[in-house]
Amino acid sequence: MGHAAMKHANPYAGLVGSLTPGELDLLSDAVEEHRLREEVGFGTLAEAAELYRPSPRCPRCGSGPAWGDGFEPSGVRRWRRPSCGARFTSLTGTVLEGCRKPLATWVSFIRLALFAVPLDACAEMCRISHHTAWEWRHRLFAAVDGYQDRIVLRGRVWVDETYVNDTDLSHGYGQARKRGLSKQKVCIAVGIDARKEPVAVVCGHGKPSSARIRRAMGAHVAKGATLVHDRERAHNVLVRENSLEDESYKADVRDPAYLEAMALVNNLCSWIKRYLWRFTGMDPKNLQSYLNLYVYLFRVKRGGERWPKVARVVRHLLMTDATFRS
Ligand SMILES: [Zn+2]
Repeated sequence: MGHAAMKHANPYAGLVGSLTPGELDLLSDAVEEHRLREEVGFGTLAEAAELYRPSPRCPRCGSGPAWGDGFEPSGVRRWRRPSCGARFTSLTGTVLEGCRKPLATWVSFIRLALFAVPLDACAEMCRISHHTAWEWRHRLFAAVDGYQDRIVLRGRVWVDETYVNDTDLSHGYGQARKRGLSKQKVCIAVGIDARKEPVAVVCGHGKPSSARIRRAMGAHVAKGATLVHDRERAHNVLVRENSLEDESYKADVRDPAYLEAMALVNNLCSWIKRYLWRFTGMDPKNLQSYLNLYVYLFRVKRGGERWPKVARVVRHLLMTDATFRS
């Protein structure tokens, strides 16, 4: 070893070298826990639960408050309600219930989800099994189920449709035999407004009817908004029933006026497609869940300057009543 290397040697290298694998894991957990606490103000599930679920409602009868009943080995608080006999913990009724990994591992998983990293890579990077990674993705899905229901687009609202082959989703792009193409294509109705509020809803197969557009988008566009769209006739149902101003452009990719007017929603369509290709091999029946997660993470990233992304997602997971059943 050269003199320069000696001088800059990590003073903890000797200590770390003397540890057993089990001790090394404990040290690594403690370091990650400390880092997380420094960054967002909580380092463990128990600390996050104290912050966001200080007095949880009873999961059986829905009322509160409950009596403190000691702690789990993880430090998560236990509760009981003598009136109904329920016993639960601060995490009961959230998707983090029964989670035996450190919060820091969950946070790594969330960071990778923010970059739409495929499951195999998540498992590898978080040092969890593929099955655990799969389960955690479905826990995230459960926490964002119905998340888009309360999103309402206002002001100038762009609406369009984008199409994906369900065989491409399950087998990979271009891998499936091209048969009955138009019928096979899943339609995704997409909307965005000037505040960059996004919506993405599965809207059946093939070109949508008015009824399908109404079902997918009707509740997501505020009355009196201005609808900016191509001249897809099925959109007229929104103009009529939501009393919208109608601003339409003839779809023509060689027309700069059309491209400029529709740039925001065209971009959203291509971001969504790129996101979905990352998850080749998905079960097409989970498509709406992937879209819910996309919209949720889009909003988290949009607000990222004001609010640390990781803290925001952990808070959401703890404050949302949702359960994952394997
Ligand atoms: Zn109760």
